[in-house]
This record gives sequence, C-alpha cells and structure tokens, in this order.
Amino acid sequence: MKPYRSCVTNLHICKANCCKNGVWVDVEQAKMIEEYVNARPEFSDLHGKTLFAEYDDDADYFPSGKCIGTALASPEGPCIFLGQDYKCRIYEVRPHFCADYPFMHPLAESNKPVMIDNMFEEDKNCIYHELLSATLKSIEEEKAEEAAAKAKSAQ
Ligand code: SF4
Repeated sequence: MKPYRSCVTNLHICKANCCKNGVWVDVEQAKMIEEYVNARPEFSDLHGKTLFAEYDDDADYFPSGKCIGTALASPEGPCIFLGQDYKCRIYEVRPHFCADYPFMHPLAESNKPVMIDNMFEEDKNCIYHELLSATLKSIEEEKAEEAAAKAKSAQ
C-alpha cells in the first residue's frame, strides 16, 4: 500500500480526473452556486456562460428530487468550475457529490446503498485507486460466496 497522500498534493499527477465529466448537482444547490459565481468579480470569465446543462430526476440522492449537471469547459471536459491548477474554483460551495467523493451517499430515506464513484478506475494515479479497487474486489468476492452458498443450499 502506498503511503497516504491527499488529493491536493496529487493534482499535478491525476489532473483532477474525477472532475473530467462534471457532476450532478441538486437544482437548488445549483441556483445557490450560480448566485455565488455571479456575485464575485473573480469569476467574471464565467459570467453570462451556461454553468449547468442537462436535467434529470433523482429523488434518492437529491433533496429536491431534481438534479442538473455542471457544464463542461469544452466537449472533452473538464467541469466548467475546474481551475487551471486543477483545483475546484468553487470549493467553498462545491456540490455534495464532490464533497463526498469518492463515495455517493443517498439521502437517509433512500434504500439505495452507498455507491463508490467509478472515476478512480480509469486513473491508476488516483490516490483512491488501490483502496477502492480492493474494496470493490472484496464486495465481488462476498457476492460470489453468497451466490455459491445459495446454490449449494438449493441442491
Ligand atoms: S464542482 Fe469542483 S470539485 Fe466538483 S466536479 Fe466541478 S471542479 Fe470538480
């Protein structure tokens, strides 16, 4: 196992791969982020631009039941809020999926299990790669053992 490194000290290596495709945001949080950006002169390059694009419905992860994706800086990405230094420019008000990364926590009333975001899988430099690969492997092994035990008891 590699020694612990934080994301911030690894950004020059991973180039914030997890921000490549943007992120889903609750529509209410998106409004708040838009206001935050539009009220600040340091974001003048973003003023008047489309900051959020595609809508979706998802009551399991978003309190309002509606979410919207952050726009991309170009069709290849990354998220429009990613800075040249690979740091999030809206870190203070970043969407909750970004704050929770690499986990995706559903709302308390949801039956969905906690999900692990899969962006780490395509980048071996991600600090979470080893840890999450091992976690996913053990989940798969557990599932296979359960399936084998079920099949055995059905004989
Ligand atoms: S909002 Fe910030 S942390 Fe979230 S995907 Fe965009 S740049 Fe990355």
